[in-house]
Amino acid sequence: MPNFDYEAPTSLAEALELLARPGEVRPLAGGTDIIDQLKSNRRNADLVVDLKRVPELLGISFNGAGLRIGSAVSCTVVHKFTAEHGGYDALVDSAELVGSIHIQNRASVGGNVCNAAPSADTIPALLIHEAVAHTSSISGEREIPLIDFFAGPGQTVLQKGEILRELVLPTPSKDTASAYLRFIPRNEMDIAVAGVGSLIEIDRATGNVLKARIALASVAPTPVRAYAAEESLEGSPISAEAIDQAADLAVGSAVPITDVRGSADYRKELVRVLPIRTLNKCIERLG
Ligand SMILES: Cc1cc2nc3c(=O)[nH]c(=O)nc-3n(C[C@H](O)[C@H](O)[C@H](O)COP(=O)(O)OP(=O)(O)OC[C@H]3O[C@@H](n4cnc5c(N)ncnc54)[C@H](O)[C@@H]3O)c2cc1C
Repeated sequence: MPNFDYEAPTSLAEALELLARPGEVRPLAGGTDIIDQLKSNRRNADLVVDLKRVPELLGISFNGAGLRIGSAVSCTVVHKFTAEHGGYDALVDSAELVGSIHIQNRASVGGNVCNAAPSADTIPALLIHEAVAHTSSISGEREIPLIDFFAGPGQTVLQKGEILRELVLPTPSKDTASAYLRFIPRNEMDIAVAGVGSLIEIDRATGNVLKARIALASVAPTPVRAYAAEESLEGSPISAEAIDQAADLAVGSAVPITDVRGSADYRKELVRVLPIRTLNKCIERLG
């Protein structure tokens, strides 16, 4: 393990002061990505700032305005809390998929976002629920729609000394359902070859789709929304034909690479199949 200093602040103000120090200062939430990256010299650090004792980053709450998830809240807490409150099924699906129970107990959803892996499982769920990233630094606060948060594989738009403070998701209407599915070659503990989150809001009177959101993981340098597919679903009743057409259009939003996990063509085929399955899951959840 390379040498670096370690601090575990107990307030946000203290954390932000530490993060503003000169040199390479890296936040650590659960450490399930960063510790391996430091050990294998894929990232370096002069100072690691542990966020797990900062109370301002450990809250999760739900009120009429939406769901607020502190950036250091673990995947376990997120999926349990969110499952109880309902309305964010895709987030429950994805937080329950990250690694294993042991990993979920340490790993945060905020860390999953800030690690910015194209394959990160919680990001499509957060994107379809229109999450906004609230950030803090000693210079102030920013609100960044999550779709604008990613700058490339492993890169975000966060500036030096700036951290994700919380993720805020608006309250979906009661006629909204969402789902997330990924494909991995094994049953668990693997990185998504492709992942898809879908959300639909239905007008019960007409049966028309009021809102459709589809987000893709592992098929582009950053997580992406499948805008053309979304638009094709909105304004008409949901049907097998409409879902098929949306799935075809989703493929156009994918720019996958070939790597050890799968070829670009295979990933495109998954982007045709997974929206069909997630949209059907939404219909099932809408009853
Ligand atoms: C065995 C194993 C299995 C895994 N399986 C999956 C999986 O199935 N799906 C999946 O998506 N991932 C998986 N991962 C990756 C990892 O567990 C997740 O990405 C996890 O959510 C990261 O959260 P963390 O709190 O551990 O982040 P950390 O490792 O603490 O941090 C990750 C990155 O984000 C930065 N960071 C953390 N918090 C903040 C913040 N508040 N503001 C700014 N930057 C911050 C850190 O500096 C670091 O660069 C797996 C990892 C392991 C070891």
